[in-house]
Formats: sequence, structure tokens, C-alpha cells
Amino acid sequence: MKLYYKSTRNSELRVSSSEAILKGLASDGGLFVPEKLPVLDVPMEELKDMTYQETAYAVMKQFLTDFTEDELKDCIARAYDGKFDTEEIAPLAKVGDTYFLELFHGATIAFKDMALSILPHLMITAARKKQVENEIVILTATSGDTGKAALAGFADVKGTRIIVFYPKNGVSPVQELQMTTQKGSNVNVVAIHGNFDDAQSGVKAIFEDQELAKELEEKGYQFSSANSINIGRLVPQVVYYVYAYAKLLANEEISIGEKINIVVPTGNFGNILAAYYAKQMGVPIGKLICASNENKVLFDFFGTGTYDRNREFVLTSSPSMDILVSSNLERLIYLITGEASDKTKELMDGLKGNGSYSITEEMKAKLQDFEAGFATETDTAECIRRVYERTGYVLDTHTAVAAYVCEQYQRKNGDSGKCVVASTASPYKFAKSVMTAIDSKYEAEDDFALLNKLPSVSGVDLPQAIKDILDAKVLHTLECDKNQMKELVKKLLIY
Ligand SMILES: *Cc1c(COP(=O)(O)O)cnc(C)c1O
Repeated sequence: MKLYYKSTRNSELRVSSSEAILKGLASDGGLFVPEKLPVLDVPMEELKDMTYQETAYAVMKQFLTDFTEDELKDCIARAYDGKFDTEEIAPLAKVGDTYFLELFHGATIAFKDMALSILPHLMITAARKKQVENEIVILTATSGDTGKAALAGFADVKGTRIIVFYPKNGVSPVQELQMTTQKGSNVNVVAIHGNFDDAQSGVKAIFEDQELAKELEEKGYQFSSANSINIGRLVPQVVYYVYAYAKLLANEEISIGEKINIVVPTGNFGNILAAYYAKQMGVPIGKLICASNENKVLFDFFGTGTYDRNREFVLTSSPSMDILVSSNLERLIYLITGEASDKTKELMDGLKGNGSYSITEEMKAKLQDFEAGFATETDTAECIRRVYERTGYVLDTHTAVAAYVCEQYQRKNGDSGKCVVASTASPYKFAKSVMTAIDSKYEAEDDFALLNKLPSVSGVDLPQAIKDILDAKVLHTLECDKNQMKELVKKLLIY
């Protein structure tokens, strides 16, 4: 059966999965959502013996119904290969009574790799199916992790180009070096004089510039997005929740049908929404626990029913979760309105206009699958140290936010269900915060010095992704003013 996608803000719009992937965002500003969430058509008894790639096919074929079996299997094979440093792709580590689903074994050691290693292949396959002749230009603004994962995914992918903008003084030294040393004949990396918001609004303005779009069309280019609003990023993320459940079953950690809880360190709400989709597909999941850092808009939303971004933006040690507008929440809002696109649009207009909106009691009652918690900077650092002292396992700062919220949930609710924590980054990506959490004696040392000390502390070798950047040549030194992004894009593409 063919599955179509509609916009959260306009149910009249109906597109195929490949169109949704090519477009990224619906033209009315809404997000594409499946008309109906599919139910897994392969039993757990079978899934439990499958490889990651086989599981990926079993799940994704139900969402991307206009891709042929060969097309989809080819995309999967190209994405989940030796770029990952483990054959399991997403291994489960049992630490104490908690299972950490390690999503950081890809090329850039953050969970963004899980989706961004396949998105380029889905996109060029979709372009081929739709007979798009243009070269697809991916524009991305990044505060660190997405930029590098998108660069690694799109580098040297035929028919695509990618331009990444990052704030000159707004990313960590490791993140900057990861981006500026990126190889590939189709990539550009630009440091802008401004902050992440400037980079993001600059990119949005370029997307909305119809005149520029026309000019580029004549030269054979069209823009697309690698942002987490693209359904081509969400669908691959459902896979690892199905895989995790199947592996728990295979390892006899749970019995068939036993419910597990999933805890996700959350920013843009993409990763936890994927877990919710997995639950809708029939995976026995009890609670979906949304973990925030001090930017706890989501914690407040689940508690009060009011989403309010009018607050101070806090810079934390888990920067990939420093976000006040969680764009993927719109897909959940749409579901709890009873798929009412006019109501969803009204709430989102409120967010755009006043920076806030409130849901009705009736809608709130539909959020019972969710729990929420948050960790302060102190809670996070203490959690890293406690887990390390007890078990020797080293958590990154984002994962620690979730581990803390998980402990808190278990203590408060007496829920003895097994918990899987989504582990979203390698501690190597945030060496300084992690090492100083373990021992304050490291405070005086910089990120790069600490990278060499982490192996003996964690017992985990320096990942290839870090080795690669330590002696790589800086290839990108372009900088521009925040007001010159459009001119620069034109210069890079046309002249
Ligand atoms: C992006 C990111 C998150 C947040 O994921 P969302 O899907 O945006 O909620 C958490 N941790 C890390 C390390 C990330 O890179």
C-alpha cells in the first residue's frame, strides 16, 4: 500500500515520500507527516535475528513506499557500512541496570550520523525518480554537530553540493576543526561573523528568496534541506528503536511483549519523536521520557500545557540541546489535535507571533505516553562522575542529562520497567566538560590536551574521527559577514 505525506498545516497537500524528502519543508511552512503511521509487518521473533541493515529495510520500506526494494536496499548498504566503527552500527551497552543505545559510532561520533549517512542517498534516489536534472544544493546553518554530519554525508555525493554556515566563535574547537578539515569537491564551509541565530535566519532568507531561486534554476541548481524537519531524517531514526528492542529480546534481557521505557536527551524533538513513531508501529514501549538541560521549555510544556520560548537562552555543556524552538514538536501537536491542520497552524502562528501557545486539556490528556525531566549543569556533571566511579563507563554531557533524568524518573515513580537511554554523542566530542566532571584537576587543560588523556580514563581508544582531524589540513578558511551570506552563495555557485 502506498503511503502519502501531508503537511501539518494543510491536509489538502498530499505528496509521495520522495517528494517530501526532496522538498524538506511543505510550502505552507508545515512539516510533512505520514497520512497514517504504519504498523510493523515483520514479527519481533524475526526482527530479533536481523542485522541493522535488515532491520532498516523492514522499517523504512513501510514509510518510503515509492522507493523500490532495490533502491532502498542500495541506500541502506551505502549508508551503514565501514564508516561505522562497529558492525552492530548501534550497539547496546548495559551499565548497571540501564541500557545505553550508543548512536555515536558513525563518521562524526554524534547521533546525527544515524540519519545523515543515509539522507544524501535517499535524496539523490528521489531526485532520480522525479527526474530532477538540477544539482541539489544543501544549505545548512549549524551550531556544531549537524554541520559536520551533513558534510560527511554529502561529501562527493554526485548531483549534490553542500554549503555549511557556522558562527565563527560559537562552536567548540573540536567541532570547528571537524568542519574546516572536511574533504570533498562539492563542499564549502563558511564561518560567519554572527551567532547561530544569524546563520539560521540568513539561510532561511536564502530559501525564501524567489528571485534567487529563479536565477539558480536557470543555472541548474535547486536548494534543499538536511535539517531534522526533513522526513528523510526522521524515518531512519525509527529504525534503531526497533533494533534496540529486538536486540534486548535476542540477548534475553527482556521477554516478548515486555514494555521498556525510552529516555532521550532532547533538543529539536526529532529523536524522541522517532521513538514515539516506533511505539505507534507496535514496539512495546511504555514511557517516552523527554530529558532537557537548563533550556527546559519542553519540561515546562509537558507539565503545564504551555509552550513558551520567551525566556533566557542558556549556554550549557550540552550545546546540541541548547534550543528554545523544538521544531519537530509540531508533528506531535498535530497528532494530539486529532490531525487538525487548522488548529496546528493556529498554535504555530502563536509561537511565531508571541513566542508561546497553550494546548487544551483534551490535547494534554493525549500526552500520557510522555514523561519529562531536566538536569541542571551540576546534576549533569555529577551524573557523569557518579556513573564513572561506579562502573568506569564514561558518558558524554548530552547522554548524562538523559541518564540523570532516567534515575530521577525511576526513583520518583517506582517504575521497574527496563530503561534504554539514547546515547547521542561520544565523550570525545566534549572532552573538556567530561574530564572536568570526572576530576576538577583537569580544569586548567584545553580540549586537545584532554583528548589524549581520555583513552586511559575511559578505556576506549581515541576514535578515528578524532585522529583524522588532529593531523588533517585546514581546507576551509572562508569567512563572511552575516549580511553577505546570499552574495557568497551566489559567488560559490554561479561565478
Ligand atoms: C542533536 C543532538 C541532540 C538533540 O536531538 P533532537 O533530535 O534535536 O532532539 C542531543 N544530543 C546530541 C549530541 C545531538 O547532537
